[in-house]
Amino acid sequence: MLKHNLGYPRIGVRRELKKACESYWSNKIDSNQLFDVGKQIRKENWKIQEKSGLDLIPCNDFSFYDHVLDMSLLLGVIPKSYHSAVSSTTMMIDDHNIDIYFAMARGFQKRGWDIKAMEMTKWFNTNYHYIVPEFDKNQKFGIFSKKIFDEFEEAKIVLKSIPKPVLIGPVSYLFLGKEKENSFQKMDLIENIVPIYIQIINLLKDQGANWIQLDEPILVFDLSRKEIESFQYAYQEISKCCSEMNILLTSYFDGISENISLFRNLPIKALHIDLVEDPEQLESILNFLDNNTKKMILSLGIIDGRNIWKNNYVNSIKKIEIAMKVLGEKRVMIAPSCSLIHVPIDIEYEHSIHSDVKKRMSFAKQKIYELKDLEDVIKGNKNLLSKNLNSLEKTKNSFLFYNQKVKERVTQIKNKDFQRKSSFKIRQKKQQKKFHLPIFPTTTIGSFPQTKEIRSLRNKFKKKELRKEEYEKKIEKFIVDVIRKQEEINLDVLVHGEFERNDMVEFFSEKLKGFLSTDNGWVQSYGSRCVKPPVIYGDVLRYKDMTTKSICFAQSKTPKLMKGMLTGPVTILQWSFVRDDQPISTTAYQIALAIRDEVKSLENSGIQIIQIDEPAIREGLPLKKKNWKFYFDWAIKAFRISSSVVKDETQIHTHMCYSEFNDILSHIADLDADVLTIETSRSKMELLKAFSEFSYPNEIGPGVYDIHSPRIPTVKEIFDLIQKASNRFPIRNIWINPDCGLKTRKWDEVMKSLKNMTRAAKMAREKLLNNNPTPSTNSS
Ligand code: GLN
Ligand code: ZN
Repeated sequence: MLKHNLGYPRIGVRRELKKACESYWSNKIDSNQLFDVGKQIRKENWKIQEKSGLDLIPCNDFSFYDHVLDMSLLLGVIPKSYHSAVSSTTMMIDDHNIDIYFAMARGFQKRGWDIKAMEMTKWFNTNYHYIVPEFDKNQKFGIFSKKIFDEFEEAKIVLKSIPKPVLIGPVSYLFLGKEKENSFQKMDLIENIVPIYIQIINLLKDQGANWIQLDEPILVFDLSRKEIESFQYAYQEISKCCSEMNILLTSYFDGISENISLFRNLPIKALHIDLVEDPEQLESILNFLDNNTKKMILSLGIIDGRNIWKNNYVNSIKKIEIAMKVLGEKRVMIAPSCSLIHVPIDIEYEHSIHSDVKKRMSFAKQKIYELKDLEDVIKGNKNLLSKNLNSLEKTKNSFLFYNQKVKERVTQIKNKDFQRKSSFKIRQKKQQKKFHLPIFPTTTIGSFPQTKEIRSLRNKFKKKELRKEEYEKKIEKFIVDVIRKQEEINLDVLVHGEFERNDMVEFFSEKLKGFLSTDNGWVQSYGSRCVKPPVIYGDVLRYKDMTTKSICFAQSKTPKLMKGMLTGPVTILQWSFVRDDQPISTTAYQIALAIRDEVKSLENSGIQIIQIDEPAIREGLPLKKKNWKFYFDWAIKAFRISSSVVKDETQIHTHMCYSEFNDILSHIADLDADVLTIETSRSKMELLKAFSEFSYPNEIGPGVYDIHSPRIPTVKEIFDLIQKASNRFPIRNIWINPDCGLKTRKWDEVMKSLKNMTRAAKMAREKLLNNNPTPSTNSS
């Protein structure tokens, strides 16, 4: 029974990768220093995994930014504009390709060049983001990067065993990308791409590899005819042309029972399935393998790669034994359910978690050791079984924070609790009458640049080097400053800047009961951006004010409207590690009630506009359509429990980003927020098309520029986007705003960009108003 791992976190225990990348971007270190940091992280990761006794250790799971972008670089899927930059500067393939790579990820505004970053979107239903590959009709594929081969050599030196290179499989890679033109379908490219995969695999074979992992997570979807054919073609070819290589094909994030027949007569060596997300599939998969293949190995993904709770050995052993009974010991492998990049690295770096909770937790490193334990149990060490049971059972009652009142309040939720008092049309009239906002009102999404000064201020306070009063006074100074700047920019609806918040979820979790924060539980979100998800371990209770004091302070400093800023229940839930001992909807409603109380408190204190951010609503969506209804049912209810407590005159905003929303627009509308600000600029407002086809009923602020890149948008391009939007929505319903919060940007970028934005809005008011009759909603 081989033990293996699909991927190990690459950010470094101390977020070394983040620091190195950011230093490189700001020219503080050179590429060699950057590469050294990468090398160091890889070495450490390999050593840890080797020490735990893993049989197959992954390589090429490391990435400086994103493993999908690595794949694009490897295959030479580099859009033309970057090609031009490549040829006109000293940047060259290989040693220096890191600059092209980062240009694709972050945009390139240097030496006369002005190229935008490539589109980024969420990796399945996780909070990891990948750079979307772009294909043109005559897309050529080749081998454009040595990374995978170099990393294999490097791993060979560090490890005693032969490393297992990891690649995204060809069908998933094409599936995750997008066509730049309408004249072809990306799956048409399968015949061009497969030969390159074969070349890569054979080169690795020449270097001594005997196992290769090809990730095909799209197997969890309902596939089209064309995708199925592409899959069959790809793997027939690969297994025919790479017959000496052991191919391990992995799927994860859901079950693949519906697609298992694709493996009939497919001579791949091993198949990995996710038994955490879909334990039920084991039976049908075993059945299939038993009847249809006599050799294929089944890799059981039994350790949860997406949550931080310790594995329940009894449950896992049951699964292993069932599989062994059908297939025999040699045809079973065990592994985490998916790559471990979705969990923090090492629980031993946590010093402030109550020991009862900590005993139940397990991070990446611990999860690898759990595999060893499971193997030992199978070999007869039953002690480990009772030890595991003990740490799970014994602590169960001691740490769980029960709150009877919270539990009861959830059971007493009534229909009227998630219903605004009047319909949107009526609310809109009342709000317009009260606010007197201009047409095309301008606003931002909430956060403003988090400078070093602000971060060190928060750190000092956290370390208790600063008294609360002192800290708050200093934060207030930042608030006043950001208000003056917004007035200078001439924005219509202001925000307080979120300077007191390290992270939009962590901030609230620290103020609510039932949550704990880790010291060092970082997880990569995109590129160098990491998040530290809180852990929900008990009933959620709001027992004190969370935002009202600072929002009211901000409002007192300006005659303009100040928008209160909250994170929504679905996002708080989605970006936390969630307890696994009650239905997720119950946890969602508990959080929703806490936010509802905060909304009410803001309104009672005179705040008239409140934004409840739900950027994570899309990523929580189950991958299989058949499970959507159930999800939307509780998710929408949770949002509306938070938002529906206000008067008609109070305007509720919500914000969403980073996802494809086209297929869930009607559900977004069901949230019934008065204003939706939404990311569109990275996908060049394609989303708008879908929105007007659906005819979105409420007010909307399609993001007019991409804040994820340092590039400054011109007035003209923003104006053009506003014009595009005006063709799609009633003018009275359109807001002008960036596509996300500005916390990661620098102040001079923000000032320039926002000034261009308000200039474009002014221009739109002058030029577009007359061409386009104002819809009837404004006639009163
Ligand atoms: N209000 C948050 C901010 O501006 C929203 C962040 C997000 O959408 N991810 O930072
Ligand atoms: Zn956002």
